[in-house]
Amino acid sequence: MSDQTGTDERVMLDAIAKWLDRDVRPHVMAMEHDDVYPHKMVEQMREMGLFGATVGQDYGGLGLSATVYSQIVALISEVWMSLTGIFNSHLMMARAVERNGTDEQKEYWLPKFATGEIRGALALTEPGAGTDLQGIRTRAAAEGDDYVINGTKTWISNGIEGGACALLVKTDPEASPPRKGMSMFIAPKVDPDTGQAHQGFRTGRKLEKLGYKGIDSAELIFEDYRLDAKRHLIGGIPGRGFYIAVGGLELGRINVAARGVGIARRALKEATAYAQERRTFGKPIGQHQAIQLKLGEMATRSRAAELLTLDAARAYDAGERCDMEAGMAKYFASESAMENAAEAMRIHGAYGYSKEYPVERLYRDAPLLCIGEGTNEMQRIIIARQLQERNPI
Ligand SMILES: Cc1cc2nc3c(=O)[nH]c(=O)nc-3n(C[C@H](O)[C@H](O)[C@H](O)COP(=O)(O)OP(=O)(O)OC[C@H]3O[C@@H](n4cnc5c(N)ncnc54)[C@H](O)[C@@H]3O)c2cc1C
Repeated sequence: MSDQTGTDERVMLDAIAKWLDRDVRPHVMAMEHDDVYPHKMVEQMREMGLFGATVGQDYGGLGLSATVYSQIVALISEVWMSLTGIFNSHLMMARAVERNGTDEQKEYWLPKFATGEIRGALALTEPGAGTDLQGIRTRAAAEGDDYVINGTKTWISNGIEGGACALLVKTDPEASPPRKGMSMFIAPKVDPDTGQAHQGFRTGRKLEKLGYKGIDSAELIFEDYRLDAKRHLIGGIPGRGFYIAVGGLELGRINVAARGVGIARRALKEATAYAQERRTFGKPIGQHQAIQLKLGEMATRSRAAELLTLDAARAYDAGERCDMEAGMAKYFASESAMENAAEAMRIHGAYGYSKEYPVERLYRDAPLLCIGEGTNEMQRIIIARQLQERNPI
């Protein structure tokens, strides 16, 4: 935990740790293997205010700093990473409105998001475009004061269980460069005022995954889905969508880094305990040098990931430029999660491969972190570009 964490925040972190031990830890194994959506835990997270964690207090949120928020994400990810996805993408949607919305939009949407009355998603990826966001094809065509949206999004976390999404579209497909013709909408499934379903917003199939179970990943299909610009076009002016999407990526990357910290730390804890229990050749395996080398590397990776994440979160909170720092944290922490999970599996021998131990789940969950919020290939490219931009000759 950071030395700069205040008393209220420590109380919150302690309360979350107790909740995890009491209400989450005993159920994770069964729910994860059966891919069950954790409705009760979601309700409990709502009661703890997690759906408003980073939303400003003026709008009913907790207004937590990235430093504290990332510690919460790491703590929860140690027990079950999937739970963090349920509020992470929701908070990215809220952040898009809070940073870029009109005053009227903030007052309308943010209190509903902060309480979790409407929970949501961030819908950027399409079947034909992930990394290359400017290649999306979902189209919003202006018709009077409205826009009519057609297209398909995929891999959207919370797509089925969520009630809305921040939806990236093209409002001017001919724009050059393409990013100038992109816009972002808040797209609800149901009109919050009337309670009536919006026609034209359909959820497709739930996608089957290697890990990250429990949380739904889905296709979203828009067919002549009509929204009025005043309430739904974030910022009220078209052409800003790409900048809104990439503007949220720093916090998104700090989130992913924090998940990596959680996985790396849990793998280390499991391996450290097992190394002292399991005996071969007359002594605990933790006394064999080969295992000690693994534990030494795992502990160092885990701590380094924690510190890089803290470094990026502090820079973010201080309002400093932190694209390189967030990229480094995301890249290193996610790779640490992968490596620590694999090493924990080796240390556990056959039991690491067993569904009766948590290590196999860490091993299945970790790779997602290398893909989401900008792949790790892209992170290294971003770091290298930044390095040269900040150090011109
Ligand atoms: C479980 C899960 C949940 C997700 N949740 C969401 C969500 O909530 N919302 C959402 O919008 N998306 C979500 N995604 C999608 C995710 O953001 C994308 O998968 C990711 O952006 C990568 O896009 P892609 O899969 O299309 O890969 P591609 O962009 O096709 O990339 C394929 C490979 O090429 C590499 N590559 C691409 N371009 C370059 C380049 N210029 N230089 C070097 N290498 C390059 C990539 O690094 C990668 O290795 C989720 C994905 C998963 C698996």
